[in-house]
Amino acid sequence: MDLDRLGTVLHELGQPAYRAKQIELAVYRDLAHGYDDIPTIPRPLRQELAGRMPFDELRLETTRRSPDGADKDLFLTQDSLPIESVLIPHENGSRTVCVSTEAGCQIGCTFCATGHLGFQRTLTPFEIVDQVLFFARQLKAAGEKVTNVVFMGMGEPFLTYEHMRRAILLLNDPDALGLGQRRISVSTSGIVPSIEHFTQEQWQVNLAVSLHAPTDALRSQLMPINRTYPLSALMPALDRYVAVTNRRLMLEYLLLGGINDSPEDAHRLADLLRTWPNVSRLGLVNLLTYNPTRDAYGHWNAFMGPTGRTLATFEDILTAHGIPWTRRVSFGGDVGAACGQLAGEARPPDATQL
Ligand code: SF4
Repeated sequence: MDLDRLGTVLHELGQPAYRAKQIELAVYRDLAHGYDDIPTIPRPLRQELAGRMPFDELRLETTRRSPDGADKDLFLTQDSLPIESVLIPHENGSRTVCVSTEAGCQIGCTFCATGHLGFQRTLTPFEIVDQVLFFARQLKAAGEKVTNVVFMGMGEPFLTYEHMRRAILLLNDPDALGLGQRRISVSTSGIVPSIEHFTQEQWQVNLAVSLHAPTDALRSQLMPINRTYPLSALMPALDRYVAVTNRRLMLEYLLLGGINDSPEDAHRLADLLRTWPNVSRLGLVNLLTYNPTRDAYGHWNAFMGPTGRTLATFEDILTAHGIPWTRRVSFGGDVGAACGQLAGEARPPDATQL
């Protein structure tokens, strides 16, 4: 629900200020399903509101469930843009929602299905939080709740910083979803000015950065953003982040077979990280293996994952250099819900004609 618009509508209707808080509590804390599900406000007001503004900012179009339990929801915004979100269940009982922050993405990483879609617009804070609300209501019906939120879906959250920031505050607000900051993670492709803002927030929110390559030449090929913020700008910003916050930093490294997964790449990655004292103190390399994706026209991407032996060698080299690493299990690969696969079911208008 768009709380800014709600405030305006209530004001136009001459309602007392406390009504906004009543509705906010019902929507975000009590997880009401619609205006009729808010008994604390009079029925005529409920009807008036229903005629003036939508209860949800998003409309759920489809849900696809993977055998591993991950649900990928396709939503449409009010202006009919497709966005996707994923609910990831874990064996330990945690329930993680991966949210999108943009319809499409401005960054255009070559291996990413979202990147191939192009960019439509950034999402509002309420569109971001609504993705969590849909899953939270569904889980509530099963006696469960959302335990973690990761900003790792479609889009670059650090290019819509203020919207991301407001969404985080709403997720964290005890009068709303009340999610602890440590249970929220943001992933960026490396937008240096935003990393510097984030460093100053005095939050407990986790930061993950997509490295994906140990040299500028290779990283620029995979992630065009590296031409704007090369490793010589990114790494000092990350080192300052760790120095100031003293928090663990996730360094995402997507292994692409034959591209960035050689033993030399592993040595170079170790050398890069060891150059920066704070990054090497609290950095943790998160190794991901590539999930096959189709581009916006339905063609399979040219990339593939590493072989088992290549992966093991890469890991051994990091270990030998004393670089802590972990391997992230990717959920939902068979329904296009895994990392780099969120592309929206809708294709560009001319796609079907190719
Ligand atoms: S990997 Fe992330 S930043 Fe890169 S194109 Fe995909 S959504 Fe955008």
